[in-house]
Amino acid sequence: MSNLELQQLVEKISYTFFNKPFQHRAYFNQRLQTTGGRYHLRSHDIDINPKMADSIPNLTGIIKHELVHYHLHLAGYSGKHNTPEFKHLLQQVGGSRYAPRLTKNYRYCYQCSDCGRQYNRQRRLNVTKYVCSRCRGRLVLLPAAKF
Ligand SMILES: [Zn+2]
Ligand SMILES: [Zn+2]
Repeated sequence: MSNLELQQLVEKISYTFFNKPFQHRAYFNQRLQTTGGRYHLRSHDIDINPKMADSIPNLTGIIKHELVHYHLHLAGYSGKHNTPEFKHLLQQVGGSRYAPRLTKNYRYCYQCSDCGRQYNRQRRLNVTKYVCSRCRGRLVLLPAAKF
């Protein structure tokens, strides 16, 4: 899905579910790692994690969630999650309760045997080659259950 298609989808959802136009920018942001989407209070733009485009129901839920922030904020409300206005409007349009958080798939956790600093990695580290970047201590692999 392109940025243009995302923009059109956000505009369409805004008209269909909120009866109001979306007049700012929506775009994919590769740098979003663990968040599904964000609404920017200053620019009023919405950016979306490109991974969300894999599932249209998920994507729609996130767009609705961010549009609740958008329309409440433009109407003079705080647009924070814990307000009655937020909960009510979100329920009305059927948006995701939470902008879904994506957990990175870390398979290995290493801990420095000297200072205790932890390093999460998706791949195995060669511990004879890599040492703690803070204290140069030896790294040990923790059992999976510990993190
Ligand atoms: Zn939110
Ligand atoms: Zn260390």
